[in-house]
Amino acid sequence: MSPVVKIQDLHKIYESGEVPVHAVRGVSLEIQRGEFIALMGASGSGKSTLMNMLGCLDRPTRGTYELDGINIDDLDRNELADLRNQKLGFVFQGFNLLARTTALENVELPMLYGRHRKVSMEKIRERAMHCLEIVGLANRFDHFPNQLSGGQQQRVAIARGLVNEPQVLLADEPTGNLDSKTSVEVMGVFQKLNDQGITIVMVTHELDIAKYCKRNLILRDGVVVRDELVADRTIAEEEMQRIKAAEAAAKLTHQAKPGA
Ligand code: ADP
Ligand code: MG
Repeated sequence: MSPVVKIQDLHKIYESGEVPVHAVRGVSLEIQRGEFIALMGASGSGKSTLMNMLGCLDRPTRGTYELDGINIDDLDRNELADLRNQKLGFVFQGFNLLARTTALENVELPMLYGRHRKVSMEKIRERAMHCLEIVGLANRFDHFPNQLSGGQQQRVAIARGLVNEPQVLLADEPTGNLDSKTSVEVMGVFQKLNDQGITIVMVTHELDIAKYCKRNLILRDGVVVRDELVADRTIAEEEMQRIKAAEAAAKLTHQAKPGA
């Protein structure tokens, strides 16, 4: 099968400042369907620049990018926006949910644009509800973001990223604002989605989070310096059981103490 992402000798030079910044310097990469990739590297190594190009939010200075067989060079601004809407889902570090809007309405939003304009509100609602079910939050559909924990907000954001049935889910530091237990929970959602066949590319600078993925790419100064399969992946469900057992043990110890 053809790769869902194929980039060749991709470069990005920012010309806006006094001196041009050569942020991505010749990256070539193929991503097959069903992959789960962590993009890693120090701050300033070009991760966000590369993600913005993968996400069709920015165009490369040179090199080619084919998304699901479509060369983005052939597309104008509007066509590129449509392609982004159809093929890609996005998850951000800061969740980016609308505050005065329920979980369900937040998930519906990406369907209100582009090719879904002709779809009935009932169908949109049904699809959004289904995505909330996938992330285990159907029972919170009418909650507002401030009535949800950080992990729950990120799960709503993941549901929103899924609602247009994307080919690839792109996530920039999705666990960056979460504590470690909640991060495990969110990685569990990603692993479940990936098991169902969704391709995921996520940026992280945490090594233990990257171990939940199947493949790790390390960038340095705009170049891929390492590209390797994860040898012994961490499985979120197992990790969660370990955490719960440790919590239960801590409680027992606490209760056993005289006077505690
Ligand atoms: P990372 O996400 O790995 O921290 P970035 O892709 O944000 O790295 O940045 C890579 C390099 O490009 C850095 O030197 C950064 O300062 C520069 N850069 C990023 N965005 C811009 C921009 N819009 N204009 C000019 N320089 C930029
Ligand atoms: Mg960044």
